[in-house]
Amino acid sequence: MAKTRQFKTESKKLLNLMINSIYTHKEIFLRELISNASDAIDKRHFLSLTEEAVPSADTYEIFLSHDPEKRTLTIKDNGIGLTEDELIHNLGTIAESGSKAFLEKLEKKDIDIIGQFGVGFYSAFMVAKKVEIFTRSPYADTGYRWVSSGESNYKIDTFEKEDIGTIIQLYLRDDDDENDENYSDYLEEWTLKRLVKKYSDYVRYPIKMAVTKTDDDDKETTEIETLNSMIPIWKRPKKDIKEEEINAFYKRQFNDFEDPLHTIHTRVEGMLTYTAMLFIPKRPPHDFYTDKFEKGLQLYSKGVFIQDKNKDLIGDHYRFMKGLVDSADLSLNISREMLQHDRQLKKIAAHIEKKITSELEKMLKNDREKYIEFYQAYGTNLKYGIYDQFGAKKELLQDLILFKTNKSDEYISLKDYIDRKQDDQKALYYATGKTKAHIESLPQMDLVKEKDIEVLFFTDDIDEFMVQIMQTYEDLPFKSVQQGESDLLDEDNKNTLIEQEKTHKKLLKAIKKALKDDVKDVKLSGRLKTSPVCLVSGEGLSLEMEKILKQMPNQSEIKADKILEINPDHDLFLALSAVFENQPESLDDYASLLYHQALLIEGYPIDDPVAFSNRMVKLMVQASKR
Ligand code: ADP
Repeated sequence: MAKTRQFKTESKKLLNLMINSIYTHKEIFLRELISNASDAIDKRHFLSLTEEAVPSADTYEIFLSHDPEKRTLTIKDNGIGLTEDELIHNLGTIAESGSKAFLEKLEKKDIDIIGQFGVGFYSAFMVAKKVEIFTRSPYADTGYRWVSSGESNYKIDTFEKEDIGTIIQLYLRDDDDENDENYSDYLEEWTLKRLVKKYSDYVRYPIKMAVTKTDDDDKETTEIETLNSMIPIWKRPKKDIKEEEINAFYKRQFNDFEDPLHTIHTRVEGMLTYTAMLFIPKRPPHDFYTDKFEKGLQLYSKGVFIQDKNKDLIGDHYRFMKGLVDSADLSLNISREMLQHDRQLKKIAAHIEKKITSELEKMLKNDREKYIEFYQAYGTNLKYGIYDQFGAKKELLQDLILFKTNKSDEYISLKDYIDRKQDDQKALYYATGKTKAHIESLPQMDLVKEKDIEVLFFTDDIDEFMVQIMQTYEDLPFKSVQQGESDLLDEDNKNTLIEQEKTHKKLLKAIKKALKDDVKDVKLSGRLKTSPVCLVSGEGLSLEMEKILKQMPNQSEIKADKILEINPDHDLFLALSAVFENQPESLDDYASLLYHQALLIEGYPIDDPVAFSNRMVKLMVQASKR
């Protein structure tokens, strides 16, 4: 008994769109159905190696046929087939693949995007008024027939089918002269030949069709012909592959709706033989910075698919790469566990890492604009790469990271920094803050601005952690302008500061006492020029690192050493001295306000805003009375 079921809501939307499509590239439906057939054969082949229930076929093939009388076009494969459950779940619902992203885009009225997608099975309804599927899975004890006109429902019943695989039959729509739609084209041999050549030439299994031949006596005979060359796109000579072919392949194969930002196609022969086709997607997937994200490259052996996401082929620092590796050196029968330890695989991974690095370096050098687009998408990941594994990848990655600075709104590399630093400069200076504007306004920038020193802006949480691992670049240490003693003071300045500290020892001590454990020390500052006060940290943990670590579980005890620095040349310091002389009972309030201001400048919250406000009010009232 046939059972009628409803499509899921999203599928209905997509179907509706397909049926009412005014899109001119309807012909891609054939590519979609052939790709599905090829995927199904891959699955059967792969499962037949490991599962007893799945017999292999003598030869795998996809067969096209057409019947002009009945206006049908049929695509037949001997792939894995579908069980009843799979018919319901895989065809009645849109999977998390191209189709879904496609629909999301469409909802944003991005109609032009339509041509860029792999839109899957439903695209059949662009050209067919009815679709029938006859299928048999090795996991089912009967075959099934699925039929739908693409409206809200579909029907499934059982169907006698002995051989494993799927037949998809399209009942083509009537031609529509008004809209210049000629569906009868798809019943023409030469159209089908052309479409296979154009979109599916690289499919690894033969796509066959009975072709009519006319001999010398005008007698017609039919002959089975294979329409595709079966050479995978990555195996074709580079110069013969058009960029748009590669892009279309990428989108279909890796479920992206945009062209890749960059493609690396490399062939290595010799001790190690492999072909790799690698892509940098334009943007990271939404789950890229979560633990849900799975890295990996597809693995093939002599054009035959082995594994979807091989993690050993790509390091975490390059985990954004998509693509595939095809090597004849791998044996197809090795189990996945063994594969992990395969020495060949490790060697290929090392090669690929080198290749990606050199491509990125080349891009940085020759196409800065593109590199910056890349960097904005994946820069943070590269920095994690440096931080990870105790800096094992430092050398590899350090010339790929970029920073903005107080002297450059454009990103610069560490090399650029070294090239233009002051001759006597003994460190790479950096400052940390939430944004460029925030850092620029920091009091700790006073001295470096005066000395005209370039300062790298650290606005990414990972930056300081990375630098702790890096320690040096070209033998020069990294130094924070917000941490420890400033090494930028002249001897004269230093001596004056020492003198001043001596003179005001009592005052500084009194302030320190007022602030108790909040600060480790109170000092006069050499780095402040126009600002009255700032907080710096001791060596080791910085204030920004403290903020980040505090957000992590079980880390609330973590504390950076805070040092309050006061500008001895600022009017405020004179005011403090006067308070200390004339009304020492107010010093506590002054010290507390000073400290809290410094906290605010650093972007810290204030523990007790009410107390802070009360103190402020008290001082304002006092001032008004004078
Ligand atoms: P996608 O291929 O992007 O997953 P489709 O809509 O094209 O989306 O297909 C949905 C699912 O239906 C496939 O993932 C597959 O499981 C199944 N399917 C489609 N065509 C076939 C086929 N010829 N043989 C076996 N399964 C198929």
